[in-house]
Amino acid sequence: MFVDQAEILVRSGSGGDGCVSFRREKYIPRGGPDGGDGGKGGDVVLVADPQLTTLVDVGRRSFYGAENGRSGGGANRSGRAGNDLELHVPMGTIVREAPEEETDSDREVVGRTIADLSVSEQRVVVARGGKGGRGNKSFATPTEQTPRHSEEGGPSVELRLKLELKLLADVGLVGLPNAGKSTLLSRVSAANPKIAAYPFTTLHPVLGIAELSDMRRLVFADIPGLIEGAHEGHGLGIDFLRHVERTRVLVHLVSAEAGDLESLVENYETIEGELAGFNEALSRKPRLIVLSKVDVLPALEAENLATVFADKIGFEVARLSAVTGTGLPSLLNAVDRLIHWDDR
Ligand code: GDP
Ligand code: MG
Repeated sequence: MFVDQAEILVRSGSGGDGCVSFRREKYIPRGGPDGGDGGKGGDVVLVADPQLTTLVDVGRRSFYGAENGRSGGGANRSGRAGNDLELHVPMGTIVREAPEEETDSDREVVGRTIADLSVSEQRVVVARGGKGGRGNKSFATPTEQTPRHSEEGGPSVELRLKLELKLLADVGLVGLPNAGKSTLLSRVSAANPKIAAYPFTTLHPVLGIAELSDMRRLVFADIPGLIEGAHEGHGLGIDFLRHVERTRVLVHLVSAEAGDLESLVENYETIEGELAGFNEALSRKPRLIVLSKVDVLPALEAENLATVFADKIGFEVARLSAVTGTGLPSLLNAVDRLIHWDDR
């Protein structure tokens, strides 16, 4: 869906071999050993780059190799180290070892996770270059003054990697089951989550991207399963709440189907209580309160309900019908303003 993926083969550089050599100068009949060390092979390094938003560029090639170290030379010359290979990936990239092809089972095998590049400029060496081999100079001892051996460079490391980009959501949709979160998500984005008239159809957070006019975009996360007691680890709650925690803005949907003010407030407070119970920082996160499914009521009634609801809870309440599209553009604008307020 919006999870970008790429599979690449990476290889670090091998180390350069050490050199066997003896000093040869006029008038010095038996020169000592002067074979230099080989250079270290280049590392393959992944770098989290905040400028990038997809794995498309990295995925264009299937193989990436760092440079080999050069061999040492005579006259104590060390071999040059191989250059590291830096691969820039977007923040939020998860790096796994790609599993070997499974032959006797259909089970999907998930490879070992090597790194989770979530911090800007974070660097992870995924394949370390081979050590440079020592030249014969290094093997000279008082008892063995003419060593005729040197060390080979260390081997390169080859690894098949699976890169996955988990999108970090800007906006978390919260609300009781059936508040209309999945429907809203399907309206703002190309994502098409299951929509159904009963609770808990969506078992995992679904991400969607709302494209704004000027090429910017907002990543929405549908956070289902936010039920009473979720912060105590019951039900589906805890993982979803973690997802909410990362978002910058919450959109809290309260369904107009509740009808009367008392039920609206009760539904609202149930969710707010959950958020507060999980993490106090969540309660302080900017949010928009939205009266959803306003099309189930006559327009005037919906407007009045939103007004008394707003008075009661002390926040503005936007009105939305994901079905008819009423209030959708202004909701996206409001979310955008809230998010980019910090950026200005
Ligand atoms: P979620 O549990 O919060 O994800 O809620 P869903 O998006 O799955 O919606 C629950 C039910 O409400 C579905 O039957 C939807 O078709 C319906 N629904 C969602 N949004 C609206 C709306 O704006 N108006 C109306 N009339 N029904 C809606
Ligand atoms: Mg849903």
